[in-house]
Amino acid sequence: MATKRSSLSTKQQRIDRVMTLMAIRGKSGEEQGVADFIKKQLIKAGASKGQITEDSAHRRTIIKGNQGNLTLRLPGTVKGPRRMLSAHMDTVPICVGCEPRIKGNLVTSVSEETGLGADDRAGCAVVLSTAIDILRSGLPHPPLTFCWFVQEEVGLQGVRHMSKAILGNPAMAFNWDGGVATKLTVGATGGYRIRIEIDGIASHAGVAPERGVSAISIAAVAIADLQQNGWLGLVEKGKQKGTANVGVIEGGQATNVVTDKVIVRAEARSHNSKFRERIVKEIRAAFDRAVKQVKNVEKSTGSVLWEGRLDYDSFKLSPKQECVQIVQSIFKSMGHDTSLAIANGGLDANWLNAFGIPTVSMGCGQMNAHMVTETLDLTQYLLACDLGLRIATVDD
Ligand SMILES: [Zn+2]
Repeated sequence: MATKRSSLSTKQQRIDRVMTLMAIRGKSGEEQGVADFIKKQLIKAGASKGQITEDSAHRRTIIKGNQGNLTLRLPGTVKGPRRMLSAHMDTVPICVGCEPRIKGNLVTSVSEETGLGADDRAGCAVVLSTAIDILRSGLPHPPLTFCWFVQEEVGLQGVRHMSKAILGNPAMAFNWDGGVATKLTVGATGGYRIRIEIDGIASHAGVAPERGVSAISIAAVAIADLQQNGWLGLVEKGKQKGTANVGVIEGGQATNVVTDKVIVRAEARSHNSKFRERIVKEIRAAFDRAVKQVKNVEKSTGSVLWEGRLDYDSFKLSPKQECVQIVQSIFKSMGHDTSLAIANGGLDANWLNAFGIPTVSMGCGQMNAHMVTETLDLTQYLLACDLGLRIATVDD
C-alpha cells in the first residue's frame, strides 16, 4: 500500500478524540460505552472485525463489569518484534458525567464537582489516534497490538484477569497513563489490599452499654495505634519506605445501639515487597491488640476476620531495556529531555511486566488525577500522540 502521510490525524482530530472520550461515562466496570466508541472508530478507519478482540476479563474481576479488555492486532508490514501500545478505559467515579472544556492550552471539567477523566481517556486517545493513523496511512510498521484495558482504577483488575492470547505475544509494551509525557515510569510499587471485619457485641446504649463491645471502638483504638506508631500515611522506618492507608470504614445504624459490626478497608504499598509485608503485619497486629483491649463487663471481647490480597507486585526495569531505549531515542531526536521515574501507585505495567512483557509507561499531560481539579495539558497530550506514532512505525 502506498504511504499516505496526508491521511495522518490533524491536531484538531486528535483533540476532538480526547474530548469525546473524556465525556463518555465509564467508571470501573462500566467501560462498554468507551469500548463501543473505540471499536466504531477503528472500523471506520479500516480495521476488520477479525482484527478486533474483546476478552471476558470482566467476568473474572471482583466487580462484574459490562466490558472486557479490547485489542486491535495488526500483522507487520515489516518484520520485527511485536510492539504493544496500551492505556486503560475506566475512570474513577468522580469523573462520571464530566463535561470537558478547553481554555487556552488546558482542559478542565465545567462542573466543580466532577473530575475530568483525562486519567486515562487521554491515554486511550493516544493509542486510538495511533491505531487510526496506522490503519489509514499505510506507513510501514512492525506487528502491532493496541490494547485498551478495563478496571485499572480498582486494583489493576482488567489486566490481571486478561486472556493473554489476545495480545499476540508482544516482545515489549508502551503504556500511557497519568503524568508528564516525557516522564518514563520504569518501576512501580506493589500494593496489598486489606478488608477487616470487626465483630463486637451489640447492646442497648442507654440501658446496658457495659454489656456491649463496640466494633467502632476497636477500629478507633487500632487506627490510633497505627497513627501514633508511624504505620499510617507515609511510613518511614530506617531506610525503608512505604505507605499505608485506612480508606473505608462502614458500620453502625443507630446511636442507641453499641455497634457490633464494622468493616474497615485498608491498603499498604512499598517498592520493597518485604517492607510491604512488614506494614501489613503491623496493621494486623494493631487490630489484634485492639480486640484484646476493648472488653465488656463480662470480660468478653470482639473478634476480627482478616482478608488480604496482593493486588500487584512491584517491578523495576533496567534502563537498558529496549522499550525504554526506544522512547528515549525518539524523544531525543525530537529535542526533548526525558526522566526516569518509579511510581508510587500501581500501573497496568505491573502486571504486564509480571507476565514477562517489559513495559514502560508515559504520561500524556494529565495533572491532579482523581481530583475535581484534574487538568489535561494539550501540548503534552499532542506530544504523547507524536510519540505513539513514532513507536508504532519504522523509519522508511
Ligand atoms: Zn490511570
